[in-house]
This record gives sequence, C-alpha cells and structure tokens, in this order.
Amino acid sequence: MPKEMEVPMTAIEGGNAAYFDAVVVGAGPAGSAAALVLARGGAKVALLERGTEPGSKNLYGGVIYPAILAQLIPDYLESVPIERRITRRITMLVDDGRATWLAHDNPSWGDPAAPNAFTAYRPAFDSWLAGLAVAAGATLLPSTTATRLVRDAYGHVAAVATDREGPPLRTRMVIAADGANSFLARQAGLMKGAGAEGYTLGVKRVLGLGAEEIERRFNVASPGEGVDIEILGCTGEVPGGGFLYTNSETVAVGLVLSLTGLAATKSRPEELLERLQRHPSIEPLLHGAEPLEYGAHLIPEAGFSHWPRLGSKGLLVAGDAAFACLAAGLWLEGVNYAIASGAEAGRAALAEFDSHGAADAAAVYASAMEASFVGINHRRLRHAPRLVMSRATQVGLPRFANHLASEIFSVRDPEPKPGLARAAYAAAHRSGVSPLGAGAAVLRALRTFG
Ligand SMILES: Cc1cc2nc3c(=O)[nH]c(=O)nc-3n(C[C@H](O)[C@H](O)[C@H](O)COP(=O)(O)OP(=O)(O)OC[C@H]3O[C@@H](n4cnc5c(N)ncnc54)[C@H](O)[C@@H]3O)c2cc1C
Repeated sequence: MPKEMEVPMTAIEGGNAAYFDAVVVGAGPAGSAAALVLARGGAKVALLERGTEPGSKNLYGGVIYPAILAQLIPDYLESVPIERRITRRITMLVDDGRATWLAHDNPSWGDPAAPNAFTAYRPAFDSWLAGLAVAAGATLLPSTTATRLVRDAYGHVAAVATDREGPPLRTRMVIAADGANSFLARQAGLMKGAGAEGYTLGVKRVLGLGAEEIERRFNVASPGEGVDIEILGCTGEVPGGGFLYTNSETVAVGLVLSLTGLAATKSRPEELLERLQRHPSIEPLLHGAEPLEYGAHLIPEAGFSHWPRLGSKGLLVAGDAAFACLAAGLWLEGVNYAIASGAEAGRAALAEFDSHGAADAAAVYASAMEASFVGINHRRLRHAPRLVMSRATQVGLPRFANHLASEIFSVRDPEPKPGLARAAYAAAHRSGVSPLGAGAAVLRALRTFG
C-alpha cells in the first residue's frame, strides 16, 4: 500500500475532522494567490503555512514584477509594501578586476501608479498577500506543516495530514504551493525525477546602508527609486550569477549557484559571495555597510524540461513546486510566475467545484498554464537554463566583453587604433573563444532567445 493510503478513510470521515473545499499548502505568492481566487469564488479554503507567519521562512533576491498582480488585484498599489521602484537595470559582465556595464535608465518605470518592478521584503509582501486572501474569506493556519496527503479508496487526494493535533483536514482539492523541492508533489509522484541538476542554490546577504547613502552611491534621481544589478562572470568555476538590489535602507547582494557545480568544485557559497563583494566594481557600492542577514534557498532553475505533472485527482501543484520560476539568464522571475500559476490553480479548482465535478481541475489547470504567459515563456525559453549555465556564457562571454572593451577603449598612441573587426578577433582570441565557437554561440543564443 502506498504511504499516502495508510490513513484509513474512516479517520478522515470522522465527525470531528474539519472540512474545506480546498486546502492550499504554503502561504508564499503562489499559495496566497490561489487562496485569494478560491475565497473570492465562494470556496471554503484553508491556507496552511509552516512559518509563524507568511514570508517568515522565505528568501529571495528582492525584485517583484507586478503586471500580473495588477490584474489580480487592480488596487494593489494602495496597500502593497514597496521598498523602491526599479528605474535602472544594469547587466554587469565581470572578469578578474574588470567590469563591463550595460545600463538601462527608464524614468517611466518610476511612475508610482504603474511601476515595472519594485523591491519588497518577503515577510512584508507575503503577509500582505496572505492578508488579502484572509480578507476575502480564507482561513490562514500559520505554524502548520502539511505532513502527508491522504487518499480515498479511489486513490483521489481527499485530505491533508498536518503536524497539528487532530485528524487530517478533509478537502475536495489540495493545492501544493509548498515551494522548491515540493514535498507534496514528490509524495504524489508528480515530479519528473528532478535531481540536483534541476536546482540552483541562492545565497543572499542583506546589508544596511541607509536611504541617503543608497541614493548617493547608486546615483538614483529620486527617493523611492532604485537599481537592479545582474552580474555574470562572478562565480568562479561554479556556473551561476550574481545580483545586487536596493531596498529603502538596505541592499541585497547575492549569488545563484549550480548545485552540481558547487559539489563538483567543493566551493563554499559564502566564500564566493565574499569574493563578489570584494570585486573592485562592487566594493565601493557596499563599503562600510552593516551585515544584517544571511540566508540560502533553493531555486528550481531547470524550467520547462523539469515541469512536473501539474495535477491529479484532488491535487494541483503551483509556483516553485511546479518549476514555474523563470530563471533564464536575462530574467530571474519567480514571484510573478508563482502568483500567475497559483491564481490559475485556484480558478481550475473553482471550475471543478462549480461544474459539480464535470470539469477536471487538473486538466483545466494544465491547459490554462500552457496558454498563459507562464507556459508560453517557459516553452519558448526551454533551452535557456542550459545555455546560461554553459561555459561559453559563464566564462567566454564576460571575458570577451571585457577584452573587447579594453581593446577598443585603451589608447595606445602612437599605435594606430585597431579596426572593430580586428579588436573583436583579438578579444575572442584572448578569451579562448574560437571564431567558429563564437559563431555557434551567437546562433545558439538567437535560437534560444528568439
Ligand atoms: C536567492 C533567490 C533570489 C531570487 N530572486 C528573485 C527575484 O528577485 N524576483 C523574483 O520574482 N523571484 C526571485 N526568486 C524566486 C522566488 O523567490 C520564487 O520563485 C517564489 O518565491 C516562488 O513562490 P512560491 O509561492 O511558489 O514558493 P515559496 O515562496 O517558496 O513559498 C512556499 C511556502 O510554502 C511554505 N511551506 C513549504 N512546505 C510547507 C508545508 N509542508 N506545510 C506548510 N507550509 C509549507 C513555505 O514556508 C513558504 O512560505 C529568487 C529565489 C531565490 C532563492
């Protein structure tokens, strides 16, 4: 008998077992979005969170892209806890002591009525979103860990056991929004054998600097505006990347590191992060800042190739648990993808309830995910994670960019200036990239990013 069948149905049919139309496991962005949609649709929904409050167990870089939030909650800007609106996006290619910056300033992103992206603290953001679900009628159960799915005699998920006293919570639908490495999706056998190669480890330090110092060092025009820096070439022999984001009074600096790369090179994440902080282009931005927090968390980085089966009878999987996070080099977007998939899961559950079972939530949800930007972007960018983690991108590209910039901008009078083609050829040669290899990499990038 499979483990999840061990609790006899009599135990969950007992008179004192609480019943909910839906039990959502995890009050991260995916779970709270699902609970919000379900509660608005009139369902009796429980939102389980193992932390003492939503967000207390969560760690991320810091930037939220709110377009999908605005669709779900049109007046979200009236109450959402924002740190800074991002008005400058920088991609930094680093190589030993050098750095080549590609910066994009966009004052329209600073529009308080329509920010493109903002930084936020997860405890504040997650508690806010869960609070909206509660205001819509959901029951939040904090400090409650789901420990097991319970199936009925037909093999359908019919209850969730928790670490609380008492019988499992009976339900028609469990939404597993329990984050990366979802225990529930694994237990239900929905995962595609996602091993370590499907994940990266994110590590982050929060450093106190003060608002004025942030605005001075990061040269932002107005208070409330901030900067997002993505960094390539800063992780040594371990494939990955770095980030630096500005909050109101603090900055977040971190790395995303291949798990298999960490194991193979026996590298220590905190040492790699130290090295990034000491880079001559980063150190002046952080100098003297007060270390406040350090944390680490898994990221389901592999994308579409690792999507699990998104549901079965009585169970849907959303957010990081469903590998919905988009980690595609140019973009690291998890929260908006989690919100979108959670909301779709909530809608799919309602479709099954409202049709008295004629519609199958798992099928409705799978189609909705395929048709939404979540599925479309993941399918389109399915080769991106591998390309981004390849040696050509990790080592060749930053070296090439820095050699090329150095070739072009170093003045060597009385030597004549090199032609651009010759400079590019010399930079490729010094980066260890053959012209054939460079051509193949460009073609691969074009095919991957379209
Ligand atoms: C270092 C790092 C940097 C990142 N940077 C960004 C960024 O800047 N922008 C961005 O959009 N995304 C970023 N991401 C990705 C983003 O954090 C995730 O994609 C997003 O949090 C997924 O939301 P979720 O609701 O699916 O899962 P989570 O946010 O992980 O929430 C899952 C919730 O479930 C709870 N839970 C787990 N198991 C149980 C259980 N058994 N019972 C009860 N509760 C349970 C957890 O406590 C948690 O609250 C980053 C991630 C990392 C690690």
